[in-house]
Amino acid sequence: MTTEQDQTPAPPDEETADGEAFGARPAWVTDEAIARWCVWVSREGEGSDAAPDPVLAPFDLTPLPAVPACVPEDVEAAVAKARAAQLAWAHTRLSRRADVVLAFHDLLLERQEQVLDLIQWETGKARYHAWQEVAQVAAIARHYARCAPRHLAARRVRGMVPGLTKVREERVPKGVVGVISPWNYPLYLGVGDALPALLAGNAVVSKADEQTALTLLWTRALMAEAGLPADLWRIVTGPGPVVGTALVDAVDFVCFTGSTATGRTVAERAARRLVGVSLELGGKNPLIVREDADLAAAAAGAVVAAFANTGQMCIHIERVYVHETVYDAFRTELVRATRDLSLGRSYDYTADVGSLTSAARLAAVAAHVDGAVAAGATVLAGGRARPDIGPLFYEPTVLEGVTDEMPVCAEETFGPVLSLYPYGTDSEAVDLANRGSYGLSASVWSKDTRAAGRLAGRIRAGAVNVNDGAAAAAGSIEAGMGGMGDSGLGRRHGAEGILKYTESRTVATQRLLPLGPPKPGPTAVQDFVRRTNSQLSLLRRLRVR
Ligand code: NAD
Repeated sequence: MTTEQDQTPAPPDEETADGEAFGARPAWVTDEAIARWCVWVSREGEGSDAAPDPVLAPFDLTPLPAVPACVPEDVEAAVAKARAAQLAWAHTRLSRRADVVLAFHDLLLERQEQVLDLIQWETGKARYHAWQEVAQVAAIARHYARCAPRHLAARRVRGMVPGLTKVREERVPKGVVGVISPWNYPLYLGVGDALPALLAGNAVVSKADEQTALTLLWTRALMAEAGLPADLWRIVTGPGPVVGTALVDAVDFVCFTGSTATGRTVAERAARRLVGVSLELGGKNPLIVREDADLAAAAAGAVVAAFANTGQMCIHIERVYVHETVYDAFRTELVRATRDLSLGRSYDYTADVGSLTSAARLAAVAAHVDGAVAAGATVLAGGRARPDIGPLFYEPTVLEGVTDEMPVCAEETFGPVLSLYPYGTDSEAVDLANRGSYGLSASVWSKDTRAAGRLAGRIRAGAVNVNDGAAAAAGSIEAGMGGMGDSGLGRRHGAEGILKYTESRTVATQRLLPLGPPKPGPTAVQDFVRRTNSQLSLLRRLRVR
């Protein structure tokens, strides 16, 4: 494993002499800049008296700037302001709403170096993985700006009596959408789900994750430059159980991304108010290598999908099932590709893999690996923390000999650890892939793409990538993304990714004659029923459906 620890470049423009201690804070991020972004925290009064838990920059464990925390009354006020602004926005032409989103798209691409620094500072991830967030949000903005008119257009549908009943199904915004997102993709998940909600004519109130509030606040300021009125997208900050709960209690729809445990709490709470939710939750995603796979490509794909974002990615791969006849050859390729990865904490593209984001994550990852090793598993690559590179670094790790009783076997690790298992037949591979209660993402590698497609059809997951680890499906914004089972409810991306933020309203206009018997009385009603039954039979015989 190569490392950049000795030549870690200083953050941009930072005037450090060679050998001086690494400072995680990007030099251009002044206190004045932070104060400008914090204006977007939606607070009415002084906020909470409770001292917030310190949030640390993963690259060097220095405290991140404290962001003011909201209290439940702030959340209620934010939702009230958003609600007041939403009506006019819903009546603003969709093309005008799309103009704002596209202006935001352009500004985001222009200023990406700033947000890449912020994402890295707050999460510790490698710059390439931060850039993927920018690319994904840009794709979402373009997709929905282009396709929202199609998705949201009113539909003419056949009426009860064709010709006499004219029926139109309209899409109306829910009102105020609450977006709750985690720290692992603060731009993609914090913003990508807000854009279609806004385009559909809603106002949005987002709860920033405690670890990554600056990224979201920077983005909100950018959206203001793009022309979005202040009250249409408000940001609340503070602890999830307090501020997130208050948000769920106030909005008309909740888009939640996070752990399955919190997702259940959110869903239960929203259900009391009969408010809809979409839930993007955890995973324990499998990858299958068939006997006929290109092994070098499959190993490279597995490495990308397992260790992207330091393994802190909901759709990343944690279980790899390899056909027994190619197991040894694949293992050699996989271990080589894993050991080739470079770790580093640099504000440039030199490191392949960055840091874990918190001490809690580091402890959880180490516990899974150490527990497995203590119970008899073998470490083929990695397997240890790397405090010499940065305080929260952990090597990309490949395990073998993992058995059912080891927590790493079925529990989500959410870190850079994958386990390798042999299998015999396609059916066995499907059974193994479908183990457990999650169903988020999966991957199948085979030169026979038809056979792989058939296998995909038997896997319980919201996405199956053939000859790709994870990105092909998630990057295809026209298709839905989400989970089955404990991995969630509903979808982001695609038609569902915007329609979930709307209600349908059916407007039926009756022409010429009213429906039903011409006049009251048993004879008229019986005549009407007889005549209608004959018409229904005729339609059936004429094969009119
Ligand atoms: P988490 O559930 O602890 O927190 C997620 C968000 O919910 C945070 O902003 C948090 O402040 C807030 N929150 C906490 N308690 C709350 C409550 N009672 N009510 C409302 N909001 C509350 O998740 P995490 O551990 O920070 O994130 C990692 C998890 O997220 C992993 O399980 C990962 O798989 C999952 N995830 C899923 C997707 C997906 O698209 N399926 C994407 C990214 C992450």
